[in-house]
Amino acid sequence: MDVDVAVIGAGLSGIAFARFYLDTHPKARLIIFEKDAKIGGVWSEDRIFETFWVQSPLRMTSFADVALRIPQDAPRAHDTFEAKYVTQYLEEYVDNHIYNGESLRSRIRTNTDVKSVEKKGDGWLLHVNATQPWSLYCDKLAVASGITSIPNMPTFPQSPQWKVPILHHRDLGSHEHILNPDSTYKKITVIGGGKSAVDMVYAGLKAGKTVNWIIRSSGEGPGIFMDPAATGRYRHAAEAGATKKASALSPSYFNTLSAPVLSLHQTDSERASLEEKLYAADNRFKAWANYRAREGALPGFRDLEPKASFFWSSGPVGVIQHQDFWDLVSKNVNVYRSDPCGTTSNAIVLEDGREVPSDIVLCGTGWNSSYPFFAPEEASRLGLPHQPDTSTEKEGWGDLMKTADSDILKTFPILGHPPLGAKPIGETSLTPARLYYGIASLSDSSILFLGRARVSNNFRVADAQAIWATAFWDGHISLPSVDEAKRQVAYMNALSRRRYPSRGFDGINFHADLVYYTDKLVSEAGLLSHRKGWWDDPEEPCLASDFRDCAEDYRIKYKD
Ligand SMILES: Cc1cc2nc3c(=O)[nH]c(=O)nc-3n(C[C@H](O)[C@H](O)[C@H](O)COP(=O)(O)OP(=O)(O)OC[C@H]3O[C@@H](n4cnc5c(N)ncnc54)[C@H](O)[C@@H]3O)c2cc1C
Repeated sequence: MDVDVAVIGAGLSGIAFARFYLDTHPKARLIIFEKDAKIGGVWSEDRIFETFWVQSPLRMTSFADVALRIPQDAPRAHDTFEAKYVTQYLEEYVDNHIYNGESLRSRIRTNTDVKSVEKKGDGWLLHVNATQPWSLYCDKLAVASGITSIPNMPTFPQSPQWKVPILHHRDLGSHEHILNPDSTYKKITVIGGGKSAVDMVYAGLKAGKTVNWIIRSSGEGPGIFMDPAATGRYRHAAEAGATKKASALSPSYFNTLSAPVLSLHQTDSERASLEEKLYAADNRFKAWANYRAREGALPGFRDLEPKASFFWSSGPVGVIQHQDFWDLVSKNVNVYRSDPCGTTSNAIVLEDGREVPSDIVLCGTGWNSSYPFFAPEEASRLGLPHQPDTSTEKEGWGDLMKTADSDILKTFPILGHPPLGAKPIGETSLTPARLYYGIASLSDSSILFLGRARVSNNFRVADAQAIWATAFWDGHISLPSVDEAKRQVAYMNALSRRRYPSRGFDGINFHADLVYYTDKLVSEAGLLSHRKGWWDDPEEPCLASDFRDCAEDYRIKYKD
């Protein structure tokens, strides 16, 4: 069987791409492979659980063309809500988008795991495992397999007597019976300092379990958890952050370096005032949780105080939606800041000698963002992270990165002063992802990577990447010459590493760049990115719905 376009992954990124591509090419033969039984990726019915809520506000949680609606009486906090509504939204979305008589759903092959991908002629041969293995040829391949699909599991040694189940956040939704108050799992141990761990700690507390929370002392430490409260026209703090005005405070590759932007970053007094604001934000979040002096808190509660900084994302960052979270955690959770190094038959043993009795262990220990279906040589050819070899040195990446780094420090002097103790995480021995805009390989235009770049809100990015990808494959966008493209990619990689000293090592961390990144993608596709008028544009939050008319505009602009 042959198709025009194959998509790997039916999460947000794969669905958004398929929608925009088919909106503009309704007759295309497009197929989506999804290894899980359900669509939706992070938001799939099999992965959500009762207390799992969306972190982003309602207006920032839907695709461009259809607004997500939740019932009037559904619980909400600062416009965040239960994840099950995203699941329902996506399920309806794939049924309601129909092209050439075929819905998006009917183009999705669930329970179909792409095992390997091979270059064949100008296109790609995909080998998949479903009820039986089969292969398919496609002219173009969109890889949207997600950076939060493959669990990263802890590797501490286990005693032969250890029978305690260990699950990752990914599997909690399909094992929700654990959270039943009558289940045999009375003592839940959660490992990890980020938002996934927070969700599972809260789920355990609400189910009336004894909750132990282990956060490694060798890792990044506990996350920086934000209060979503906002004022004025904003319904959630993320909305205030997703404005052009606020985004200008962040050193960016995608923002135009106009005189006012440069003055903001290069004038001593402006920079000092920026730094003051940044540290004030960290202190505000700390004061909100009141780690040091919270009444009735257990002694370990103060160990949850993050050392990381919000601006630098030098630790996990998340939002606490549940208003009773800090109170419940401070009074009920046993917090341990030490590395697990072994087990007894029913307890995790920590490096500081303490034992943590456990009936079940839930891991919020992060993700492995690799692509197991590419052979290492192919990953290297495409510009995915790989062990550097002499040929890449010969290609001059090292020099390009050095030049870029020195330019970056001149343009954004603040980046020369990262917070003390920010530790790089991830596979730092690997090269960064050398993908143009975090999407396109410099060596092969028949493949694109969607949802790979790290950003703070995925709906708007999924739509913007879909628009850029479609325009690129339609020939309305061309990459610059190879030398110039490499120079730009090196700059993006170097900026990612400077801007996010812990989490920017993959070279395409655009966390605070939601607004300018998505604007750039859409405007390069030849469409208007500033759609709210000059008055509101700087102040209004940038939403996926801003791109509501993009498919129509695209059809008009590029009609044959
Ligand atoms: C706990 C958690 C909470 C989050 N909360 C928010 C939030 O509130 N707001 C927000 O904007 N973002 C949030 N995110 C970020 C989240 O990653 C994005 O919202 C979004 O789900 C990313 O979509 P994606 O399609 O790129 O990846 P995914 O959702 O991971 O989807 C990728 C899909 O590809 C499939 N796949 C992988 N490999 C293969 C293969 N070999 N063959 C076939 N199929 C394959 C996977 O099964 C999966 O369905 C959260 C993430 C996590 C983990």
